[in-house]
Amino acid sequence: MNAENRDHDYDVAILGGSLAGAATALLLLRKKPALRVVVLEKSSAFGRRVGEATVEISAYFLSRVLGLAAHLNHHHLAKQGMRFWFANDRARTLADCSEIGGRYLARVPAWQVDRSVLDEEVLRLARAAGAVVLRPAKARRVELDPAGNTVHLEDGSGARTLRARWVIDATGFAALLARANGWFRPNEAHPTTSLWARWTGVKDLDGHELAERFPAWAAACRGLRSTATNHLMGDGWWAWSIPLKGGDYSIGVVFDHRRVAMPEGPTIGGRLREFLNRHPVGRELLERAEPVEGDAHWRSDLPYTSTRFAGDGFALVGDAAAFIDPFYSPGMDGVAYTVTRAVELVLAAFEGKAVAPLVEAHNRDFERAFSRWFDAVYRDKYDVFGDFELMCRAFRLDLALYYIGVVSQPFERGGDALHDPVFTLPRSEIPFRLMRWYNRRLARMARERRRRGTLGKANAGGRFLLNGFLPERGQVPAVLRGLASHAALELREGWRTWFRKG
Ligand SMILES: Cc1cc2nc3c(=O)[nH]c(=O)nc-3n(C[C@H](O)[C@H](O)[C@H](O)COP(=O)(O)OP(=O)(O)OC[C@H]3O[C@@H](n4cnc5c(N)ncnc54)[C@H](O)[C@@H]3O)c2cc1C
Repeated sequence: MNAENRDHDYDVAILGGSLAGAATALLLLRKKPALRVVVLEKSSAFGRRVGEATVEISAYFLSRVLGLAAHLNHHHLAKQGMRFWFANDRARTLADCSEIGGRYLARVPAWQVDRSVLDEEVLRLARAAGAVVLRPAKARRVELDPAGNTVHLEDGSGARTLRARWVIDATGFAALLARANGWFRPNEAHPTTSLWARWTGVKDLDGHELAERFPAWAAACRGLRSTATNHLMGDGWWAWSIPLKGGDYSIGVVFDHRRVAMPEGPTIGGRLREFLNRHPVGRELLERAEPVEGDAHWRSDLPYTSTRFAGDGFALVGDAAAFIDPFYSPGMDGVAYTVTRAVELVLAAFEGKAVAPLVEAHNRDFERAFSRWFDAVYRDKYDVFGDFELMCRAFRLDLALYYIGVVSQPFERGGDALHDPVFTLPRSEIPFRLMRWYNRRLARMARERRRRGTLGKANAGGRFLLNGFLPERGQVPAVLRGLASHAALELREGWRTWFRKG
């Protein structure tokens, strides 16, 4: 340990003990057990929270980097990919709805997690590895100082301070450091709001009742539909249905609040039900379901970013750094990248390496990653959600490129690949431009379809079932097929907007 650290209470103070904070503590202590690490968590027990669907990167991080595969298999559910349901006036029942999804089971592991259980486990492991956990303890303020930070906190014994050479902000949406230091920037180009609740009694998509009423529909999928993340799609909105171990479901809706208004009502559960009853799949799922008392939530203005991600003596991880959009469930992928880099930064500093160039690279990479991630995948995506045909094209290309360019990396290079957040390596330049281009074009075509009254015409009776993606270059033909299909669409109707603005 450096002499300069001896008078500090701790080497590292981590603010927030949920997934991002606890994982940082655990990985730091696994790599350097002598570090004095304290975790401050304001809740005395974790409640359920959003961030329940892992995707391939977050699943890799949880299972192979943190080593939680057994815990995930015992206490959570194996996830069967993503599934999307579209409707229009002709879709009277669930079986009429156009569907995108896997024909078989998923081929790369992922889980549907109950965060109240998962986060307790990661924090337990951090404590077992040697972290001091103060709980309930709320960080009030941090005086950042490269010579030693002062954290003002409040716990059972009242207000006090502690000193730490490094502070890791893992406070999630509270984003303590970004907000206090003027780094917090809402993304006003993407005004989204979400309402969600946990539900009991949600209908089983693989159960006897639906199979009996809709046998051809049931037979079309040879895997399992119920343990996928099922997405209900609409114009300017989408909703998720995620099953949790034990039988409850997480169901919520996200909408562009410039275009969609939620029904009014005294309860979030009631408002959600009224809204989702407009979609045949929502009507089926919720027919006998009830929201779990006290477990309904909402948040507006979801996306934001910090303009700084690290400095000499601090780093931001998980949602404390940025949040883009929950569609495709990328939140915990963000946790994986920010935690990996923060751990590397702190360890390098304690090994006596020069911090300044590492901090510069850290800020440059995450600024680039979050802005490109938004631009390539999410900007104007809510224009496309209401159209099965256009979403088939977006989904096939988005997923194939995610598998080839992103998911393949840790499988080929190991956990070290999480050092490079998405779109930061030079070789990601062409995929970035390609994704930004076709997603922008699809949004333009969706707006044109809306203008002409043809948006969502194929939302009934369509089924686009894929055999599954693999994180290998062998997927390149899937990308080429996707681009050929996009080119045909451009010739068929895209030309209408080639030279027009808006
Ligand atoms: C509607 C919605 C749906 C989502 N769905 C998904 C999904 O399906 N999959 C996915 O990967 N991601 C999803 N996300 C994103 C996901 O929720 C986050 O990326 C993830 O939970 C971030 O984890 P975290 O540990 O950074 O923050 P959080 O889980 O928010 O934890 C922050 C912790 O800090 C503590 N804390 C806060 N302030 C203080 C303080 N001052 N002092 C001490 N402790 C403090 C809190 O109590 C909490 O425990 C979704 C997000 C939204 C909004």
